[in-house]
Amino acid sequence: MALIGDANLQYRSTKGGGVKLDMPENFIQDIITEDLKEGKNGGKVQTRFPPEPNGYLHIGHAKSICLNFGLAEANGGLCNLRFDDTNPTKEDIEYVESIKEDVRWLGFDWDDRCYYASDYFDRLYEFAIQLIKAGKAYVCDLSPQEIKEYRGTLTEPGKESPYRNRSVEENLDLFRRMRAGEFPDGSRTLRAKIDMASPNLNMRDPVLYRIVHAPHHRTGDKWCIYPMYDFAHPLSDALEQITHSICTLEFADHRPLYDWIIENVDFSDVGPIKPKQIEFARLNLSHTVMSKRKLRLLVERGYVSGWDDPRMPTIAGLRRRGYTPEAIRNFCERIGVARRNSVVDIAFLEHCVREDLNRRAPRIMAVLRPLRVVIDNYPEGQVEWLEAENNPENPDMGTRRVPFSKVLYIEREDFMEDPPKKFFRLAPGREVRLKNAYIIKCDRVVKDQRTGQVTELHCTYDPETKSGSPGAGRKVKVTIHWVSAAHAIEAEVRLYDHLFRSENPDELEDFIADLNPNSLERLTSCMVEPSITGASAGNRYQFLRQGYFCVDPDSSAGKLVFNRIVTLRDEWAKMAGSSDK
Ligand code: ATP
Ligand code: MG
Repeated sequence: MALIGDANLQYRSTKGGGVKLDMPENFIQDIITEDLKEGKNGGKVQTRFPPEPNGYLHIGHAKSICLNFGLAEANGGLCNLRFDDTNPTKEDIEYVESIKEDVRWLGFDWDDRCYYASDYFDRLYEFAIQLIKAGKAYVCDLSPQEIKEYRGTLTEPGKESPYRNRSVEENLDLFRRMRAGEFPDGSRTLRAKIDMASPNLNMRDPVLYRIVHAPHHRTGDKWCIYPMYDFAHPLSDALEQITHSICTLEFADHRPLYDWIIENVDFSDVGPIKPKQIEFARLNLSHTVMSKRKLRLLVERGYVSGWDDPRMPTIAGLRRRGYTPEAIRNFCERIGVARRNSVVDIAFLEHCVREDLNRRAPRIMAVLRPLRVVIDNYPEGQVEWLEAENNPENPDMGTRRVPFSKVLYIEREDFMEDPPKKFFRLAPGREVRLKNAYIIKCDRVVKDQRTGQVTELHCTYDPETKSGSPGAGRKVKVTIHWVSAAHAIEAEVRLYDHLFRSENPDELEDFIADLNPNSLERLTSCMVEPSITGASAGNRYQFLRQGYFCVDPDSSAGKLVFNRIVTLRDEWAKMAGSSDK
């Protein structure tokens, strides 16, 4: 698999930074355009997003959501939300609710068109009866193991089931009794009568219904037979009169079966539209896994705090981390629609998030690893409220005032007692500018006698160098951020790294072993400027020089908790050859 960038997209770097993309072709739109030109489906475009409620949605689903809702909108059509809930033992109402929340949060609206495959169980049962009556389906008594053995392989044809030629009456009787609960799980199935010698294994008399004595989260105990995906899906599409049924590549081999069902079941009372299946490549992201089964394992075994752990590629995780729906939609659009599988570099997703937050996030100062600084020549008890810009990218966001006083915190890593050549920040005898404030000089270092750790700096400030004043122009190499100790708000900050160490953990046999032990770092005594007072969960900021941060719902009245959304370093822009911001 190729990293995207060489697969479908051409990147141009432009003067002044920023990455411009030549939008890749959307071949699905081309198909729709062609269909509309030919007057197919009476000029109607109807799509659907069909999640199975067996886990939380992830960024791959976002791709499918943007595509289905986006294509409908672009072509004057509608998109339905449909729960593919045909698997009662794995599904749950919790997942239904989370899926609705996530689709809405991404900015899409299904109006009153939220459907459930389970709402169609009666119709699907009638369709099955129809196939039996037409001699196109039969009840088979082979066990699941035997069905497998009879199916043959890619190189050998299958063997016909000994039950294949049961009479229509016998099939009708047995199927009714299957429904009535007379037989145990796995003892019988309903199968389509197609072709055991087909080169396509999906066409070798596929199972349409199985017996599962399990209550369903919507239909309760009404059913003990449940339709298979390959039967329920095309017919749900037909019942909703879907014109373009968009799914991922692994269903390409199922398309002949999809078409067979559409051709052999009579649903003309519902409408004239015969849905067409179109496949596209699923989205894969580097340094993460995307299958719900694997994500569920991470949750169930406690490797993450839940489906919404900010390290998860789930929509709920990305939301909690602080990603915006706009950034995710923009990302989905820019990666385009591919016909072959690839892995998209997670740095590109982060690039899209940065681009969005750069415009909208207010800048504030926060010190993540505080070092105390005493300004010896600053009057005791004096406080100056200094003007600071909220967002240099967006003057409309205005200014605020930050307090300056005798005792400050600066970032521990902005000081070195014995600096190497290229370190231009604070050191004994050196000067730096404090953002929005004054130039200070470090005169003296206080250390813990036992550990040797630096505990405090004593500095002097130059009153002539106040930001915005005539003397402010004096040159120093570096400007650093700071907060006033007496005014600072203490907070917890959670820093994140990739959940998995290797680029493509999905390809590893043991993906769990590849988990990054350093994916979460908690800093519990960070100091944030007081303008943060009143912030609530979901609020996003740029902490100067440290990245973008979002208030986590774990915050309490007593203590704010922040997630770092992304750092400021744009790996993607660098790779794409544009200037580093
Ligand atoms: P998973 O394998 O992650 O469990 P799934 O395909 O079983 O995913 P569904 O709930 O059946 O999950 O998916 C709903 C829709 O989202 C389907 O149309 C599916 O094709 C699409 N989809 C799922 N994963 C991706 C992905 N990584 N990229 C694009 N579309 C996806
Ligand atoms: Mg699925």
